[in-house]
Amino acid sequence: MTDPETLSVTIVDGYVDEPAHFGVPPYISTYPRYAAGALVDAGVPREKITYHTIDGLRDEPDRWRDVDEADLMIYLGGMTVPGKYVGGTPAEPDEVRKLAWTASGTSLMGGPVKFGVGDENAGGTETERQDLDFDFVAKGDVEAAVFDLVESGLEGFSNRMRDVDEVSRWAQEGAFIVEQHPNHPEYLIAELETSRGCAYRCSFCTEPLYGNPTFRPPPSVVGEVDALSDLGVRHFRIGRQADILAYGGDGEAPNPDALRSLYGGIREVAPDLETLHLDNMNPITIVEWPEKSREGIRIIAEHNTPGDTAAFGLESADPLVQEENNLNVTAEECFEAVKIVNEEAGWRPGGPRDPRPSEGASGAAASAGEDAPTRLPKLLPGINLLHGLKGEREETYERNLEFLHRVYDEGYMLRRVNIRQVMSFDGTEMSETGAEIANEHKKLFKSYKRQVREEIDNPMLARVAPLGTVLPDVHLEYHQDGKTFGRQLGTYPLLVGIPGERPLGETTDVAVVDHGYRSVTGVPYPLDLNEASMDELTTIPGIGSSTAGDIVVNRPYESISEAEFGGEVDLEGFATARPLERAD
Ligand code: SF4
Repeated sequence: MTDPETLSVTIVDGYVDEPAHFGVPPYISTYPRYAAGALVDAGVPREKITYHTIDGLRDEPDRWRDVDEADLMIYLGGMTVPGKYVGGTPAEPDEVRKLAWTASGTSLMGGPVKFGVGDENAGGTETERQDLDFDFVAKGDVEAAVFDLVESGLEGFSNRMRDVDEVSRWAQEGAFIVEQHPNHPEYLIAELETSRGCAYRCSFCTEPLYGNPTFRPPPSVVGEVDALSDLGVRHFRIGRQADILAYGGDGEAPNPDALRSLYGGIREVAPDLETLHLDNMNPITIVEWPEKSREGIRIIAEHNTPGDTAAFGLESADPLVQEENNLNVTAEECFEAVKIVNEEAGWRPGGPRDPRPSEGASGAAASAGEDAPTRLPKLLPGINLLHGLKGEREETYERNLEFLHRVYDEGYMLRRVNIRQVMSFDGTEMSETGAEIANEHKKLFKSYKRQVREEIDNPMLARVAPLGTVLPDVHLEYHQDGKTFGRQLGTYPLLVGIPGERPLGETTDVAVVDHGYRSVTGVPYPLDLNEASMDELTTIPGIGSSTAGDIVVNRPYESISEAEFGGEVDLEGFATARPLERAD
């Protein structure tokens, strides 16, 4: 019998990406936090628990010693909806196998990896269930398996799900693990779970494998945020649920009171939070219960931080594909939902539609008024489209484009359009069709994707983040082609390119000056005309190199109105002319 007090445990995070759960850095998913909490609850001392990300192991080969020497090595990972990631590279199946071979102690694997593993982490692939040479695979909840395994003296566990009391306890007790994340504390965003399961049964989706929705009550989530916030976490995303609007209700209809307790409670225990975003809202909830949904959306927009996205799983605007795959929302219904979110939450803090009472020079609306910089809208819909589904035909691509054009032409905003190809998993209806249709349509998919980028993404981005929009706290991540690229923390953050190579790892406020398909070009905010580089000046539309040269030659300026632009350039919203420091 192994005494939990003497047990050393290493948790390796290979990252997760599920339809309703994200855990690639800068995100940390719930899995390592809950697993750590289950270990503590089972009697393992905190100081005997080591946590590494897969990138951490790649960066420092010495860390593999912790994998080798632990009495128990827990691997957490699995990509059921893989995408492209800037902040980290998910573990590939070969690396996961290597973990199992390296571990001298007991090895346990869990997380969405239990649904299946493909040859690589990519869309359009088929998967099969594999144990990847681990001693144990948790087929139920990995945190419950961890708890039961330790309780049994590492003998075994039953594949059960955890209950609400357990998750409330483990979420709080395991929060300490965030301190071992390489991104802690500044550049880390904690994914929060409010519910699991879904009332609907879309053919490709793994979420119904968790059953009908079960909710964590507000005190459970709020208590966890309190614990995380005490450990320095300032960024949160309520992303682990199929539909935030259904939170705390009967599984389908909204319950605005529950949303108020959740969001209000979070703001109370974490008054200094810098990001509060969400993921996943089901458009069908909005069209079926429009009034309650409007109220719920208003509550969210009152408490969240700007740039928030309600991802809508339209998946396909083609009625044939909808029918064959049990998709629960039509293009018409989705359009209605887009409109409602725009109306209730598409306002910008300090902008003309900001519904909050003005509080003069202080308080929540302090940045309001004519001089306030333009910010991203509070909450906008995002659209998810999935390709390779049963019944997909050429017309499907046309229908999807038609839908997106309609949203744009009628003046609404989408925060982003996400296009993916299906992965098929055992236990979902798509497992019969597999990746066949996705492979057949690969060429069509490519040209359609380009069309969406050019015809929709680019003009939409200019509408969402017009010239001069200020993005505070952009984290600088990498250099490329003489530019520095970075992102804010949050849900689907915009990639921002800034002229020049700036020190990485720092944060800076940026004003948007130009738009790509899915990224923007920005200059430091406020742009000081007495300091700005030629590169920075020439990225501003309307300022060519000769104007920029004139601006530089005629320095210093007392105010920006002194500078001659010779054109229609309006710098009022984001430029300044700071007095030069006088040398004594
Ligand atoms: S609505 Fe469909 S896609 Fe969304 S979580 Fe439920 S089953 Fe999955």
